Amino acid sequence: MRGLSNPIHTFALVFNTITMQIKDIVVNPSALLSDRIKSMDESATIKMAQKARDLAQKGINVISLSLGEPDFDTPNFIKEAAKVALDEGFTKYTPVPGLLKLRQAISSKFKRDNNLNYEPTQIVVSNGAKQSIANVVLSLINPGDEVIIITPYWVSYAEIVKLTGGIPVYVGADISQDYKISATQLDEAISEKTKLIIFSSPCNPTGSVYEKEELEALAAVILNYDNLMVISDEIYEYINFTSSHFSIAEVPGMEERTATINGFSKGFSMTGWRLGYMGAPQWLASACSKVQGQFTSGANSFGQEAAITALDSPLTETYAMRDAFKERRDMLLKLLSDIPGFKVNKPMGAFYVFPDISAYFGKSFQGFEINNSDDFSEYILSHAHVGLVSGSAFGDDNCIRISYAASEPELREAVRRIKEALL
Ligand code: PMP
Ligand code: GLU
Repeated sequence: MRGLSNPIHTFALVFNTITMQIKDIVVNPSALLSDRIKSMDESATIKMAQKARDLAQKGINVISLSLGEPDFDTPNFIKEAAKVALDEGFTKYTPVPGLLKLRQAISSKFKRDNNLNYEPTQIVVSNGAKQSIANVVLSLINPGDEVIIITPYWVSYAEIVKLTGGIPVYVGADISQDYKISATQLDEAISEKTKLIIFSSPCNPTGSVYEKEELEALAAVILNYDNLMVISDEIYEYINFTSSHFSIAEVPGMEERTATINGFSKGFSMTGWRLGYMGAPQWLASACSKVQGQFTSGANSFGQEAAITALDSPLTETYAMRDAFKERRDMLLKLLSDIPGFKVNKPMGAFYVFPDISAYFGKSFQGFEINNSDDFSEYILSHAHVGLVSGSAFGDDNCIRISYAASEPELREAVRRIKEALL
């Protein structure tokens, strides 16, 4: 303190600090980035898919099972509808929450498939379900609020929550529980600061599907608390191998507490179209529309026109894709059962398996030591040239995610390579 009271010392200290900061910025301009962005992880699914692409560009024959993207083309009748819309001049801004006709079609879909009563004004169409989720989190979460993320979870939930200053609280289940948490686990994790719960069913990355009774039990816990909201991510609704899909908002009292997320990426194989949507209580839908109005406005106009056609048509092609995924799942499970040390559950939806590969931790292959799921996926990519995503990105470091949105020959060859690399 005595030193600081000397004006020359004070000047030297301030001067040094400023020059150090300027030097840091000149040498490393990314120091300019906000703390918020510096502490944010890159999407692991997208990163792994890019790594696989980079290897492929070097001429290496890589099989990428990392990105969760249907390998089917968008059904023709949907593409045709977009072409007609373009020709008819649907090329302008749309209302921020989406075309009224599309929101009416979504409202009817919610009624038809999910027994939910979201009015068109309670629906917001976004640039993908990812944006729908971000809109809800931004609308609800203040710094310091706790958000329960049911684990294993889809990679983006935690990063979106952290971006808002929310505190993710992970409540997990491993393979012994089919990766599904119990109502008691949920109850124990709720604190005075909990504001939101996020989960997906069918689940990315595990493929687990919460049954009606399981969701009713979770809802009974949630309804015991005031002011607790839920994001129910149902984007894999149509890729469900059980007899039916159940939405948590169907439980009496839960529609007021739930933002039900869905979209066109998976069920209609429209990932690149960037169209997702959400149904929520009016006050929340209005907030999401306000957020979106400042960030991106309405989603693309002619895509929305085509999306109306997708929702209003029979789901024949959607179900054909689901059946193809089911066949691949069965084939992949059979192939994986031949790899020693792989513990696999039977996924009931989506297009992922999430094997527990912790039996390999502490072992070395071709001089490469495997101690966690990152090591495992790194080794498999570099030595077997198969792209996977490590479970650490989804909150379970014992596992890896394999996407089977790939052709049967690719899946067979991928498993052959993995098996060989682990001999
Ligand atoms: N939720 C889950 C569980 C997902 O796997 C994905 C993957 N894309 C999304 C949301 C986002 O989907 P969209 O392409 O509609 O943004
Ligand atoms: N949802 C997909 C996945 O989990 C697509 C990638 C992404 O949006 O993160 O792989």
